[in-house]
Amino acid sequence: MITRRHLLLAPVARTRTIALTFDDFNPAALGSAEAKAANLRFLGHLDRAGLETTAFVVGGLNQEAGRRAELEAWSHAGHRIANHTWSHRNYNNPAMTGLEFAADAARAHTFVSTFRTFTPLLRFPMLKEGETAAKRDHMRLWMRTEGYRNGHVAIDGCDWLYSQYFLRSGFAPKFREPYLNHLERMANFSLGLAGRSAIEAPLTLLLHYNAINLAFLPDVIAHFRSLGWRWVDASRAFADPLYEKEPSRLPAGESLLWALDGGRERHQGEQDKVEEDILRRLL
Ligand SMILES: [Zn+2]
Repeated sequence: MITRRHLLLAPVARTRTIALTFDDFNPAALGSAEAKAANLRFLGHLDRAGLETTAFVVGGLNQEAGRRAELEAWSHAGHRIANHTWSHRNYNNPAMTGLEFAADAARAHTFVSTFRTFTPLLRFPMLKEGETAAKRDHMRLWMRTEGYRNGHVAIDGCDWLYSQYFLRSGFAPKFREPYLNHLERMANFSLGLAGRSAIEAPLTLLLHYNAINLAFLPDVIAHFRSLGWRWVDASRAFADPLYEKEPSRLPAGESLLWALDGGRERHQGEQDKVEEDILRRLL
């Protein structure tokens, strides 16, 4: 007989497994005059944690002299280099056609595919995958034809917004705890969605190559470990069949778990207003 006490003690079977992915690689987002040294510090954080990530690179942001070598350092360290388009445009904009967007992704491919650790994953800017079925399916067909898969995000947040305020504050250390709390909230939100669908796959966390992660990435890694999460390499996460799923909802995109859940709750991107109130109070 299953008693209430047994139910209370029954372990929650979900394994909390998480993987790091980084987007954009906009050197200006680091807020450092010493771009090369800052890049090495970023890599050092991952090296010390023993974690391999997937770097979703915006081609057009990485054409300056010296950037090639900095991205080569990521590739040399074993991190995968993937496609985040050439010019980071919003595919849900009705003025943007499937043909134009595919051309932008193809242009980025000519750059990212030259790295030794290139992996054919495409991450849509702002996670916008098309507002109509025709546009969504145009890019799904493009990916299939070009041997690409979608570099889906399972845990989305506003690290980019936290980083903007962190820069405005002049790198104030007091941002550390609110930032860790933010990521914890976002991860728990996704964990709830995963639980509803009995998904146990490693969850890909979207972070950006920016000042707040340069400052606090070791704390982020340690914080999640202290909460019982286990970090795995991003390539291992993306190998899970979860990341082959193609949600049917429109507009297409946002976090994969949210889209698979049918978009019933507010998506994490809509948290911006709430987060901005927290951030304004910190300045
Ligand atoms: Zn981006």
